[in-house]
Amino acid sequence: MRVWEVEIELLSDLHTAGERKGSVIDVLRRDGKVYLPGSHIKGVVRTEAERIWFGKNGKRICWVTGDPYGTEKEPAGIKPCEDRSGCPVCELFGVPEQERWDERYLDPALRFTDFVLLRDKGVSERTHVMILRDKGSKREGALFSERAIPRGSIFRGFILMIRDLGGGGERLLEGALHSAADYGFGGGRSRGLGWVRVRIDKDSSIGRMKEVLS
Ligand SMILES: [Zn+2]
Repeated sequence: MRVWEVEIELLSDLHTAGERKGSVIDVLRRDGKVYLPGSHIKGVVRTEAERIWFGKNGKRICWVTGDPYGTEKEPAGIKPCEDRSGCPVCELFGVPEQERWDERYLDPALRFTDFVLLRDKGVSERTHVMILRDKGSKREGALFSERAIPRGSIFRGFILMIRDLGGGGERLLEGALHSAADYGFGGGRSRGLGWVRVRIDKDSSIGRMKEVLS
């Protein structure tokens, strides 16, 4: 099985909405450790793969993740994949939450692991005022702090190829990874957060993955 090792270096702070403790909104953690969920990375990369593939091959008919140019306020429409003749994006990423119209895509070719910290820069914290009530001239607010993962932090995770992708599939995945880095990860992307740089080692292994993720 081919295994790609992927490094994600934060070029700006990154928001992952974790637990709220009193007036502090933490970043996402698992067993107390900061991480990036593989499902989030996969979702952003998939959106870019849909855009790249259908940008080159005509009319877009796969919208499983919705329109990448939707904003946080106005997310664009998510529709089922309409490609019944063999969608390369669904072949790689599967068809989550879609009616089982095609057994071929139920087992995606790719698995994404969670991404763990390789270079730990702690967390940054910013304080905001949240307006609780706004009645005429009488305003009441409360202070709250929002945590973020600071720029310079580096994460590492793995992409497993359960099936052989072929040259076209690998190129699509690689292009989508770099394109996703430009688009950004996490929340607040419209505010310039979550901008990253991606490095890919295409010759990693299951043994290496177990060592890094244990
Ligand atoms: Zn599709």
